[in-house]
Amino acid sequence: MSSQKPVLAVLTSGGDSPGMNAAIRSCTLAALQSGYKVIGFTHGYYGILQNKYIELHEHVVRDIIHCGGTILKSARCPEFKEDESQQQAAKNLEELNVKALIVIGGDGSFNGLIQLSRYYKGQVIGLPGTIDNDIDGTDYTIGFATAVETAIEAVDKIRDTADAFERIFIVEVMGRHSGFLALNVGIASGAEQIITFENFINPGKELKKIAEHISLCKKQRGMSSYLIVAAENLWPGGVYRLAEDLGNYANIKCTPCVLGYIQRGGNPLAKDRILATKLGVGAIRAIDNGKTMLMIAECNRDIKEVSLAIAVGHTKTVNKDLLQAQESVLDIAALAKQQVL
Ligand code: ADP
Repeated sequence: MSSQKPVLAVLTSGGDSPGMNAAIRSCTLAALQSGYKVIGFTHGYYGILQNKYIELHEHVVRDIIHCGGTILKSARCPEFKEDESQQQAAKNLEELNVKALIVIGGDGSFNGLIQLSRYYKGQVIGLPGTIDNDIDGTDYTIGFATAVETAIEAVDKIRDTADAFERIFIVEVMGRHSGFLALNVGIASGAEQIITFENFINPGKELKKIAEHISLCKKQRGMSSYLIVAAENLWPGGVYRLAEDLGNYANIKCTPCVLGYIQRGGNPLAKDRILATKLGVGAIRAIDNGKTMLMIAECNRDIKEVSLAIAVGHTKTVNKDLLQAQESVLDIAALAKQQVL
């Protein structure tokens, strides 16, 4: 590419999340102001490998802040884990004179960036974009707030039917291997049980706990709705199997429901648009200051620069206050003992 201006590239990788477009927009606008030519590789790391990109002008990103998904498309690119692909990508980036690369994605995508930096000598910056909120070093990831809200809306609707039919529902929410979504959605929708990584002992003990709680609730309040919110990838065989297991264990009839991909889509909430805008601007500031190998994060409302190695090297754990809050409000047995019910 013949260009006098330094080139800055952006891509989105891994699971899409609401607010990725807002992040593309803010990176682009801030980079244009700093004098860069901006390009966006399409379909994650495939874009670099296949030299597929679009030029990001002001008019391209003007009207995207409110849109879910990503105008650059996303992809999982397994071959990027191979050395030869990373070397090829570095070569392609250098041929395009790309001075800095911003990757918006989750910890997998950040791993890709770390591997790429062994061969690519430009600056590399990651922006945390995932609905799972499972990246250490940032309070929130772009898309988490919207996904929580989407799932709560769905669970509220399920509650209406559960209530009308006095039925037990098990709702599976996303989160990959982290309980942020399940715990936040479960608490905000008033679920009677939340099954998540942070409080899971083993299937046998969990079955006993759930069955006892259901039976206690039935005793206290008669037939009524009862909601279980479960994190994906946790119960062996998933929530359909959990429903079967509860039937076999205690003759409890449950309706399983997997929320699935609706949680990834939709227009981002203001919180995600604003977070994405701040992080995008923070990325260009870091690049202008010559920095590299960083994730731009928000901690206690400040924009921070966190080493990419820290972001991918540590497991982010759910705040204990959340777990305690959940246990306290759900301890119907304890309330009954104090004759509050
Ligand atoms: P997320 O970024 O949402 O966590 P993935 O874990 O699926 O999603 O990773 C997205 C992409 O990042 C992968 O398809 C691959 O292209 C790249 N990637 C993930 N892990 C590595 C790795 N160890 N080395 C190189 N690239 C990786």
